[in-house]
Amino acid sequence: MDAYTPAMGKQRPARSILANLLLAATATALPFTPMASVSVIGFYQQKASMQRKAFEEKTGILISGLPSEVEGKAYKLTELADVIAKEQREMRFDLARIEMDTPNPLLKSPSSLYKWLTSGNLRILNTNGYLIYETNPVFRNVMGLLIDPPGAFRNASHHEIKHRKLEILLREHPELKVRARWEAILREGHRSPIYMSPEEQERFNSRASTAFQRNPNLRRDSDAEQDRIFEYSRANFQESVACLTSLAEMTHTDPRYVLRSMEKEPKLEEIFALADELKLIPPRTLAYLELARHEEKIGKSWQDDQAYLIESLQFLNNDRDTPYETRIRLNRGTCLKNLGFASGNIQWFWNAEDEYKQGLKTANDLHSYGKILEAMSDMYARTGMPRLAKTLSDAKKEYDKRYDAGNPDLATRGVNDTLKAKNII
Ligand SMILES: [Zn+2]
Repeated sequence: MDAYTPAMGKQRPARSILANLLLAATATALPFTPMASVSVIGFYQQKASMQRKAFEEKTGILISGLPSEVEGKAYKLTELADVIAKEQREMRFDLARIEMDTPNPLLKSPSSLYKWLTSGNLRILNTNGYLIYETNPVFRNVMGLLIDPPGAFRNASHHEIKHRKLEILLREHPELKVRARWEAILREGHRSPIYMSPEEQERFNSRASTAFQRNPNLRRDSDAEQDRIFEYSRANFQESVACLTSLAEMTHTDPRYVLRSMEKEPKLEEIFALADELKLIPPRTLAYLELARHEEKIGKSWQDDQAYLIESLQFLNNDRDTPYETRIRLNRGTCLKNLGFASGNIQWFWNAEDEYKQGLKTANDLHSYGKILEAMSDMYARTGMPRLAKTLSDAKKEYDKRYDAGNPDLATRGVNDTLKAKNII
């Protein structure tokens, strides 16, 4: 997370002499191509790999970083492509470059060093991510990401992209009065100040740097982590928006976590409604979260499965182009499959198959897509169709291979090319 983003509208801290030197060295020593600006240090001088090229082609955003952080952890490119596809769908934004930074203090990227030198705070070298707003061409709109576990990496990516979107929104749409409306919700019923005092922030930062970053085993969905997100959201207006809107994105991967957060912080409902209107979170997230309350009960009884089928159909009828479609089709398929096994009536399996296939064709959620491949393979295996079961488990293997290889198309097309070749979809 980026605690050191200068508050919008305030004077930026004067750039230090070292930062100016770094900028000047970068700007003069290299021709002004985006790739060249990446290769400030010898480490970074390399030809763009296949993965980097594919990612740039797909997203329009350059990737930089040590090969050990990019090609060596290529799954991050797959996750990032999914995050970016989801974020672009809500509201268009641009980034010049994404730096896959390293936590190794000796191999810090020029962006990290620049961020550190301009913010004057050492702790920036130990965050999960940062965003550089700059007017100079070398470090303009660079997003840095420093964390590995997929869940935390996704969250950090969403968080920094939200910062970028907020900046665009504030600059291009003053008539929306984003800040005033956001803070009006925060202020309601609150006697204490809505943001931390500088002292509180200092105390929080010193604790935060030892909590998550130093302890990769701290679960992203733990209560402690949830409290930390809420606490950090009180740092200032920018962090409030970035923390709470990126929390809404966890609806894609773990709606229960978001529902628990809403119980803890009742204001989230109003915040999400405003964020939806501002296109900072997926459309109709609150309605989807209502549907997701039924998810936990899937498989508990046939009544629960029926209830989910009815509720989800209503949701889909109201929103024919929802970013939650692949996830919903996965759940519907599972309900229908359960009903098939409970009743012994084969018709349920055909219906389940239709739902799964619809989810695959839509392909708008990386992880739900992979789960559909598994669920279909399992259904075929248990209903006496070993050949189809094998085809689907092979497709899952291909999916896993592409996931590990950093294939940016996986997030929006899955392995539909191989499924089409086998007449599955
Ligand atoms: Zn932030």
